[in-house]
Amino acid sequence: MSDRCAPRAIPDHPEEECGVFGIYAPGSDVARMTGFGLQALQHRGQESAGIAVGDGSTVTVAKDLGLVTQVFDDASLASLTGNVAIGHVRYSTSGGKAVWEAAQPHMSAIDDVLFALAHNGTLTNTNQMRARLIDEGVQLRSSTDSEVAAKAIGVVTRETHHLRDGIAHAMELMRGAYAMVIATADALYAFRDPHGIRPLCIGQLPDRRGWVVSSETCGLDIVGAEYVRDVNPGEIVRFAEDGLSGEQAVRAATPAACIFEYVYFARPDSVIDGQSVYQARRDTGRILAREAPVEADLVLGVPDSGVPAALGFSAESGIEYTDGIVKNRYVGRTFIQPTQEMRQLGIRLKLNPLPDVIAGKRLVVIDDSIVRGNTSKKLVQMLRDAGATEVHLRITSPEVMWPCFYGIDTDTRDQLIAANMTLDEMNEWIGSDSLAFLSLDGLREAVRHARTQGFCEACFTGEYPVPISEEVAQMSFRVAWYDPFCW
Ligand code: SF4
Repeated sequence: MSDRCAPRAIPDHPEEECGVFGIYAPGSDVARMTGFGLQALQHRGQESAGIAVGDGSTVTVAKDLGLVTQVFDDASLASLTGNVAIGHVRYSTSGGKAVWEAAQPHMSAIDDVLFALAHNGTLTNTNQMRARLIDEGVQLRSSTDSEVAAKAIGVVTRETHHLRDGIAHAMELMRGAYAMVIATADALYAFRDPHGIRPLCIGQLPDRRGWVVSSETCGLDIVGAEYVRDVNPGEIVRFAEDGLSGEQAVRAATPAACIFEYVYFARPDSVIDGQSVYQARRDTGRILAREAPVEADLVLGVPDSGVPAALGFSAESGIEYTDGIVKNRYVGRTFIQPTQEMRQLGIRLKLNPLPDVIAGKRLVVIDDSIVRGNTSKKLVQMLRDAGATEVHLRITSPEVMWPCFYGIDTDTRDQLIAANMTLDEMNEWIGSDSLAFLSLDGLREAVRHARTQGFCEACFTGEYPVPISEEVAQMSFRVAWYDPFCW
């Protein structure tokens, strides 16, 4: 087995890196409400969780590896008291390895400037910013882009004593995708990159008790906050004693919201930029049924994101929908160690077919994406083993051909099956009777209710809204030898 074939812990789907949450609500249990918010955002990252609280005089951070409920209990939440809090859940991209140092919120203290920062996204010019900070005499303890952002904010804030100045300065320097929240001792800040690649929305608590920001609206819902608006691309929003104040810190660029949020990352009960995620998924299935019809007896959705799309496919095609695949919701990634034995078990740890339902039937199986293809291959075999006579795969996104540099782990290009095989080759290798992907126009139609019609589609097209440095690109643009036995 070559190094390329070494067992990997990374699942065969793009993985979201982070979810962020923030609350300014004097008189409320802000730490506990942040804990609820993070549980709603748990799907965006399961490897570490953290909460920082500002109590009027200082900022305190608690964080650790694990799920929100593993890191925090009643006593630890009760010990975090204050008026303002931020929280973070993280998915690590370093070969599936979770490290405590990378857990957030990141605490920053330069002279008397003290704040905690949480980040969803990835900066594409971290090395340049790092070198510049080191030249200015700033000491960095890690190589994370979140620390680099925090230090860039801190060095200017130290001079002007206004955090807003430090954030605006950092926004001028930072490139890539960022949706960030900051807690100081007495205020909450939220800001987004000029393209608005990662989502970040604002809600208000009942009776004007305070303000909430969250990566998704499901984080607002869980604490009873009502959606107000999104943080605008390039905007800094401050929440403090005098209420909400927003200002455009850097000019907004061409809108490029991540379209994959609708396909896979976001929770179906979230609404992003005015577009219901559930409705978008249902429509992808409906459009797929028109674009790639097939004769079959049953339509199944691969849980969870394939299910609304399967319902849409069924409604459009008239083919009966059934629950034919059961998902085990309690297999944590922690237990899926990258060993050969675990890899053999692979998909069975998470998904199990219902033979009584599917035996002797021709199936249309709806899934959200194919990245490396190994999960699809095992899924098709598992359904055949359970008695399916035909398995037709329908995918609710276009072919993933390019890596993501904006906060999503999609592997390097040489590991993306669609970048290395034709459609027929993929169908043959996966073992399906037919295979079809939703067209890009079809996906755009499914998200047509989004208020801002400007999306990042780079993982399908290779057209990156924020230029990628040569150094970063070299790591992923190499189309290397492709060995199907590794998949
Ligand atoms: S490259 Fe793909 S996954 Fe990454 S931000 Fe763009 S659309 Fe989203």
